Amino acid sequence: MLTIKCSGCKSKLFKYKKVGSGEVLRCHKSRITKWFECLEQEAKISCPCGQVVGIDQGRFYKMNSSAFTYTGTKDNK
Ligand SMILES: [Zn+2]
Repeated sequence: MLTIKCSGCKSKLFKYKKVGSGEVLRCHKSRITKWFECLEQEAKISCPCGQVVGIDQGRFYKMNSSAFTYTGTKDNK
């Protein structure tokens, strides 16, 4: 499980069940297990500080790689 955080203010945004060891480029909505203080509006997800971290693409969010960091482990199954 990964905890996605804002790269600007380090706020926790959401928990994500990453499958595979690749980069976090997309976050599938069905694998987001918990939301923290993340705002969703106008097809974007953003941190309360205003930084836009992802764009809603339907079944997943296309992540802005410079806008977030993460901690935790990827699930390699
Ligand atoms: Zn922030």
